[in-house]
Amino acid sequence: MQSHYGILDFTLGDSLAQLKPDATYNRTLRATTAVRLKPDTTYFQELKPDAMCDVPSGEVAWRSLDLSNGAKLGCAGLTRSDMVATHGLIFGAMLQEFDGAARILNLEPGIWKILTHPKRQVTVSCPVQMDNGEIEVFTGYRVQYNITLGPAKGGIRYHPGVSLDEVTALAAWMTWKCAVAHIPFGGAKGGVICDPSRMSRRELEALTRRYVAEIIDLIGPEKDVPAPDVNTNEQIMAWVMDTYSMHVGHTSTAVVTGKPLELGGSLGRHEATGRGVMIVARESAKHVGFDVNGARVPVQGFGNVGSISAALLAGIGAKIVAVTDWKGGVYNAAGLDIPKLIDHVKEQQSVKGFTGAEGLTNEQLFTLDVDVLIPAALENQITMDNAPGVRAKVVIEGANGPTTPDAHQHLHQRGVFVVPDILANSAGVTASYFEWVQDRYGYFWTEKDVNERLEAKMCEAFNAVLQTSLKYKVDMRMAAYIVAIDRVATVTRTRGMYA
Ligand code: NAD
Repeated sequence: MQSHYGILDFTLGDSLAQLKPDATYNRTLRATTAVRLKPDTTYFQELKPDAMCDVPSGEVAWRSLDLSNGAKLGCAGLTRSDMVATHGLIFGAMLQEFDGAARILNLEPGIWKILTHPKRQVTVSCPVQMDNGEIEVFTGYRVQYNITLGPAKGGIRYHPGVSLDEVTALAAWMTWKCAVAHIPFGGAKGGVICDPSRMSRRELEALTRRYVAEIIDLIGPEKDVPAPDVNTNEQIMAWVMDTYSMHVGHTSTAVVTGKPLELGGSLGRHEATGRGVMIVARESAKHVGFDVNGARVPVQGFGNVGSISAALLAGIGAKIVAVTDWKGGVYNAAGLDIPKLIDHVKEQQSVKGFTGAEGLTNEQLFTLDVDVLIPAALENQITMDNAPGVRAKVVIEGANGPTTPDAHQHLHQRGVFVVPDILANSAGVTASYFEWVQDRYGYFWTEKDVNERLEAKMCEAFNAVLQTSLKYKVDMRMAAYIVAIDRVATVTRTRGMYA
C-alpha cells in the first residue's frame, strides 16, 4: 500500500459521515479550499494538495478509500481522521500547512505523530457571580501544544466564538511561530467563551481570576506564560499576574507577558509587532532588489500593527500612500503624513475624513500600483477575488492569516514575494520573550536595548527563512514551516523518548 500524506483527510476525515452531499464547505481561518460533495462520487478523483476534489457522500472510513490512481489513502498508521474529528477543521487547516513542510523535510512518522498531537488540552468551567446577582458558568480552555523548546507561550482570548478546535490550532501556530522566531518557548493558547463587550469591569476581573485559578497548576514562568490576545489587554494580564502571585505566595511577574510597564512589562513591546513588520519589509525590499526609501506602501488596518509599521516605514523613507480601516480609507500618491494621521485617528476613531487625501476602499487598496502591500487588519483579506489584481512586488502579512492558500499560491506563482504571518508578525512574541527574560533577571533594559535585540532577532529569523526558501526552492511560507518544524523535530529527536 502506498501511503500519502494528503491534505484531503485533514479537510474531511471521518467527519465525512456528518457532511451533507452537494454542499460546498469552506474551511475557516487560513484554509479556504472549497470542497464540494457529490452524491454519486465514490472515491477521490485525485490526491493533489490544494486541489478541488470530489469526496464520497456516504459513511466511509477514510482509511479504506481507494484513489483513482490505484493508491490507497493512508497515513503510516496515524489515525489523522480521529484528530480531525476531535479537533475540527481549523486544526485541520494547521495540519495542512504542517504536512507540506513535513513532507519536504522527509520527517519520520514517529516525529510526525508527536508534532501533530497537542501535548495537553484542558477545559475548565468558571463560575462567576454577575452584577445582577446571578451565577454564570463560562467555559475556558488552555492548550499546550508543544513544550519541547521551553515553556508554553501564547495568548488568552475572550470571545463568544472560542472553541477547543480554534484554541488547539492557534496553540500549534504559536509553536511554529516561536520556533521560527528562534526563542526558547513552546506553543500554547487559551480562551474563554464569553462576550466581554457585555460584561462589566468587575465581571471581567472575576472571570479572569477564576479562569486563572482553574488553570493555576498548568501555568508559571517555567511552565506556560500567557499573554494578551483578542479582547484581552494589559489590565487583564495584570489580574492574571496578581492571581497567580496570590496563589504561589510571592510576586511572580514572569508568569505572564504584555503587562503594564510598572508591573514588569517591557519597554518597546507595544511597538514590537509593527517594528518587526518594518524590519521584514526593509529586508524583503533588499532581497527583491529595490530601495525601501521611496517605496510606495499601502497598509490595510491602522490599529496597533498597521499604524506602527506605517510610522516606522515612513521613518525610513517609505511613502505610505494609502491606509484603510473598518470605516474607510485614504490615499495620497505623495505619501500620507502618518503622525498627523495618527492624531486624526485619536480624535475621529478612523482614518476617514483625513485632510490632504482622497477617499479609498479596501478593494482599491489591494490593487494599487505599489511596492510593498501590508495587510494588517483581519484574516482572509487577499483572496482569489482580488489576488489577480495585486500589483505589489512584496506582501508582508502583518495580520494573522490575511491571505487565503489559493490566493497565496497565485501570488507566489506570479513572483510576488509574500512574507508569511508566522515570520512577519513574530516580533510581538519575541518582545514577550524579552519581557519574560527581564522579569526573571529582575533587570530592565532600555528601549534602545530592546529595539536593538529585536532588530537582531528579526533579521536572524528572516534570513533563516529566506535561505531555506532558496535551498528548497519553496515560497517563504513553506520555508518558515520547514525552519520551525525542523527546529522542534531536531530537539525532539535529541532529547529522546521518555519511558
Ligand atoms: P487592532 O485592533 O489594534 O487594529 C485592527 C485594525 O484593523 C483597526 O484599524 C481596524 O479599524 C482595522 N479593520 C478592521 N476591520 C477592517 C476592515 N474590514 N478593513 C480594513 N481595516 C479594518 O489590531 P492589531 O493588534 O493591530 O492586530 C491586527 C492583526 O495583526 C490581527 O490579525 C492580529 O491577530 C495580528 N497580530 C497582532 C499582534 C500585536 O502585537 N498586536 C501580534 C501578532 C499578530
